[in-house]
Amino acid sequence: MTMLNPDFAEELKQFSEDSALACFNCGTCAAICPLIDSHFPRSMIRYVQIGAKERILEAATELWKCLHCGLCTQTCPREANPGEIILGLKRLVLDHWRKS
Ligand code: SF4
Ligand code: SF4
Repeated sequence: MTMLNPDFAEELKQFSEDSALACFNCGTCAAICPLIDSHFPRSMIRYVQIGAKERILEAATELWKCLHCGLCTQTCPREANPGEIILGLKRLVLDHWRKS
């Protein structure tokens, strides 16, 4: 069972800008992403919103598929900056692995 961490968004501020809560899950980022994974990067943004840190760590290798093309950030209607959040999640995962 996945444990939700209500402090996760706060923790992520060390590694990324604090914009995930602006996301309203429209799916534009997932539709425009050249990776053509049906839910990426929206799924990761949603995990941040609900504090599902364990899920992010379990799926961490998916983060490294990101090309940092910026299309998701350019097209996000809420300025949630999903591309920057993905970059921040990479930093968080590296920090987690370094400490474990
Ligand atoms: S495009 Fe922006 S608002 Fe829409 S799901 Fe992606 S991050 Fe959320
Ligand atoms: S920056 Fe990454 S997540 Fe965003 S559209 Fe490009 S490849 Fe997809």
